[in-house]
Amino acid sequence: MMPRWTTCWSLCMDPKLLEILVCPVCKGPLIHHRTAHELICRPCRLAYAVKDGIPVMLADEARELSASEAGEA
Ligand SMILES: [Zn+2]
Repeated sequence: MMPRWTTCWSLCMDPKLLEILVCPVCKGPLIHHRTAHELICRPCRLAYAVKDGIPVMLADEARELSASEAGEA
């Protein structure tokens, strides 16, 4: 039985995709920011863009978050 995800993941991302997606820098879990369409790593303060539903998991392409963004994501 699948766990009942209470986050946005279950609604707008493929759960299988969620399982394999980690931050390429710290290997930690990512948070999907549904309005910005970004995958956020709080520890690294990086936001990975999601283009056409495909996450761009490249640290070089990631956007650096401000302190407030990292806090509210
Ligand atoms: Zn990270």
